[in-house]
Amino acid sequence: MKTYQMFIGGEWVDAVSGATFDDVNPYTGEVFARVQKGDDKDADRAMADAYAARKPWSSTRSLERSLVISKAAQVLEESRMEFAEVLTAEGGSTFGKAMFEISQTVDLLLTAGADAKRILGETFHTDPRKLSMTLRRPKGTVLAISPWNFPLILSMYKVAYGLATGNTVVFKPSSETPVIGLKIGELFERCELLPGALNVVTGPGSVLGNALIDDDRCSYVTITGETSTGRIVAQRAAAGLKECTLELGGKNPLIILADADIDYAVNAASFGAFMHQGQICMSVGRVVVEEPIVEEFAAKLAEKAASLPAGDPTIPETVIGPLINEDQVKKVDGYVQDAVAAGAKLLAGGKYEGRVYQATVLSNVTRDMRAWQEEIFGPVAPVLAVADEKEALEVANDTIYGLSAGVITPDLEKAIYLAEGLEVGMVHVNDASIDAEASVPFGGSKWSGQGREGGRYSLDALTELKWVTIQKEKRSYPF
Ligand code: NAD
Repeated sequence: MKTYQMFIGGEWVDAVSGATFDDVNPYTGEVFARVQKGDDKDADRAMADAYAARKPWSSTRSLERSLVISKAAQVLEESRMEFAEVLTAEGGSTFGKAMFEISQTVDLLLTAGADAKRILGETFHTDPRKLSMTLRRPKGTVLAISPWNFPLILSMYKVAYGLATGNTVVFKPSSETPVIGLKIGELFERCELLPGALNVVTGPGSVLGNALIDDDRCSYVTITGETSTGRIVAQRAAAGLKECTLELGGKNPLIILADADIDYAVNAASFGAFMHQGQICMSVGRVVVEEPIVEEFAAKLAEKAASLPAGDPTIPETVIGPLINEDQVKKVDGYVQDAVAAGAKLLAGGKYEGRVYQATVLSNVTRDMRAWQEEIFGPVAPVLAVADEKEALEVANDTIYGLSAGVITPDLEKAIYLAEGLEVGMVHVNDASIDAEASVPFGGSKWSGQGREGGRYSLDALTELKWVTIQKEKRSYPF
């Protein structure tokens, strides 16, 4: 078993305290790696090195930054299996999910590399006696905090765009998936990134994360995680008047109208609810179905759920791998048992072995059930019947969350009505709620977060806008 060090100032170092913690394989329950348990002293060291690298990194040509990030795409592509093994060993990714995540991350790196050359200002043709323009400058040192569920791509949104915009980055991965974070450090080291431009520190969010947010040298915070965590982080950052990008939880509806192709809708719901065991912010968490087809739809979804191969994520055919930890297994089961006790019908699943929870379908669900209201982060599809698209919209919007949604119908008029009315950051018509691309505005509204990531939206978020004027002839002042 390997012990990993942190990546600070271009060097691999132990935590100042010498403390480490175990990184556990969620399928086998065995310790996969030992990792440094950083605290406020390590936060100080990482921030100091990132701060010192600010000037040299922000004054590089955009071509230089672009080349490093594009090279990282190439090295990642060549090291697929190495990254996939870690995604499975510490994060419980099935082989298919790991490959999908790596491909998406390669695309993201290529896009961010190209975007490094697209940091644009504007000119304002308002007064012929002056040149008036905007410049974009890096924020300074960006703190990136990421979750465990898609630990490679979600970290890379922050790291790649942080570097592309000329910021230096201090990056804290989740303690469930610290090694993939450290491998991001290794990836950029292999691409000869300027030492100190990226620093990867590992340790508990409550200690290390807080110290990093509080540090005066940190200029901006970007976090992906639970809504409850986002609220704590945003409040802390606000105390230092630091801006944040918050990518938080979701309880995403998939609306299926009566004219939908039922088999297609079943496939969309199954992918949306069960991909990566339902542990995706964009997972389908509520299936809203028009009354005339609800029974047939739910029966077919249950049949499909029962057919999905579950178990060892290292077997390429496995679709349902393990949940991330024991607590999550108990939590997911609690939601299912509560719903059944309150009158929901268990059509499939509801059982687990070790940490592998079977794909589960609940029908006869009501809006007051916890399984309907709260983010479960497990492979559970609760199905609720509605009378028409108006009720579907009202039900779908009845939540604190507003991340993503799917709508299945061939009727474009109804699709547009729903796409416009849904209180979410992303809507996919004739698709599940899970989708992401490197250059689109990714993010949510309501308690699913604030700000957008990807493409020019990341360029805007991670740069400071400055208005500059140059007076071409002397101005006559009133006094
Ligand atoms: P989490 O909130 O437990 O942890 C996220 C990160 O925050 C981790 O690195 C953690 O160490 C850190 N953290 C925790 N407390 C902190 C504190 N006080 N200060 C600073 N950092 C702290 O989330 P998770 O369990 O890793 O991820 C699952 C959650 O993330 C789900 O709610 C999911 O919906 C959400 N998520 C959202 C998106 C999105 O783009 N909107 C994407 C993926 C996951």
